[in-house]
Amino acid sequence: MGRRAILRRRHRQQGGFRQMNNRWIELLKKKTKELAAAKEETFETKEEEPGEYRKPIFQIIYIFLGIFVLMAGYFSYYIMFQSDDVINNAYNKRQEVLSERVVRGQILSADRAILAQTVVDKDGNETREYPYGEVYAHAIGRYSKGKTGIEESENIRLLTSNINSIEVMYSDLSGKKSPGDNVVTTLDSKLQEVAYNALGDNRGAVVVMEASTGKILAMASKPSYDPGKVDDQWEELLADEKTEAPLLNRATQGLYPPGSTFKILTALEYMRENMAYLEYEYDCDGSIDFEGMTIHCHNNRSHGEVDLPKSFAKSCNTSFANIGKGLDIAKFYEMCDSFLFNQNLPVNMASNVSSFTLQKGVSGTKEAMQTAIGQGNTLISPLHNAMITASVANEGVMMKPYIVDHIENAEGATVKKYSSQTIGRMMSGEEADYISDMMRQVVTDGTATKLEDLPVEVAGKTGSADNSKGKAHSWFVGFAPDREKDTDIVVSIIVENVGTGSEYAVPIARKIFKEYFK
Ligand SMILES: [Zn+2]
Repeated sequence: MGRRAILRRRHRQQGGFRQMNNRWIELLKKKTKELAAAKEETFETKEEEPGEYRKPIFQIIYIFLGIFVLMAGYFSYYIMFQSDDVINNAYNKRQEVLSERVVRGQILSADRAILAQTVVDKDGNETREYPYGEVYAHAIGRYSKGKTGIEESENIRLLTSNINSIEVMYSDLSGKKSPGDNVVTTLDSKLQEVAYNALGDNRGAVVVMEASTGKILAMASKPSYDPGKVDDQWEELLADEKTEAPLLNRATQGLYPPGSTFKILTALEYMRENMAYLEYEYDCDGSIDFEGMTIHCHNNRSHGEVDLPKSFAKSCNTSFANIGKGLDIAKFYEMCDSFLFNQNLPVNMASNVSSFTLQKGVSGTKEAMQTAIGQGNTLISPLHNAMITASVANEGVMMKPYIVDHIENAEGATVKKYSSQTIGRMMSGEEADYISDMMRQVVTDGTATKLEDLPVEVAGKTGSADNSKGKAHSWFVGFAPDREKDTDIVVSIIVENVGTGSEYAVPIARKIFKEYFK
């Protein structure tokens, strides 16, 4: 038999089955009504004959028998005609089949704001809507013009309906669509709004996450776009990709020189190579020369006598370049490798690979000195920098960042729960404590004193990353303890081409911590 003939036969069978079941559904509905009526009568009658009770009981038995037969029939029908379509087809075909049966589910924030939903008009036309427009574009992704973000990663779940099977069956048999499952994210709608707005008209990105779980509470990237308008604006957006790159999720895909935020890793490497790091001393006169290369402290300012914590708090480039001069390049590389440089981040979202290029036998001392202050050829994404900072805050253990908390059916029952996962121990508890103390000193007596009057004890590191495209990129990575949740809240902020970390990124961190701890 040819494929067409098979399809025709299948169509006839399906039609016949539908008719049969429609008759059953009608009968069931009628019986249910009769039962309800009978129940009311029963309650109204004060004195009853014993036999009168039996009537409704038999009716209930018939109804359940009917449901059972109907479901048995339905599942055979499903297995015979539909499961093949659903299971055996390639991804694209599968989602096509699913979207004929299911109305795509919603994407929600952790506090239940609707971030994406499919609206169906009276003619059955579906529109994917994004009530917050540009604010969540990169965190949740888009549906049209090539799915991205959660719209891509949770695509099949959004197109799967886990409401109770009788309802699915009713809808299926009567040709109606079932409501798809909803994706509940870890995002906090208030923090997201603050993070997005705090970037102002600048290009840049913000990541906010919990150190002990890896839960992403906010993820913003600017410039942005409205995922609900991509069909109309596509040509324009593509043209902008060459200059402003609004489609790029800078939080996970943007790669930047880390600037002085990299001193966290340089300090750690120095501590590992020098048992006597507590005795480190250096006399900063504002700059350091090496074989014709000069590295300056910010504004050529001399920091005088500094130890390791003071070098760190004041972000003394001269002292850190001096540290870089003596580091074992092979060991430095090995440590950065363990911190996930030069490899894909273990995250369920599109991200770019951070790079650390210092190599034994290839890189010279000059490059080592540049690298030690976060210049050189090192590149990092804001998400990766958040993960490194979180491992300091989390006593040395790095957690896997995640943005989907759970999947629930249209009635709100949990279908699948995601939980936090450990990537690994990045440093000892003692090392993490020492670096945390130095990061705290950045706020009490260093480059981030603008955060000192907050009601929580913030620790962090600023960075101003020189680049070929103009003014420095402004960085801040840091954390503050949420004692109620027994974790630290981590921020990683970059503002492109504006100037120093203390001037631009630190005030954004301030707004985020203020909102979180208010
Ligand atoms: Zn200095």
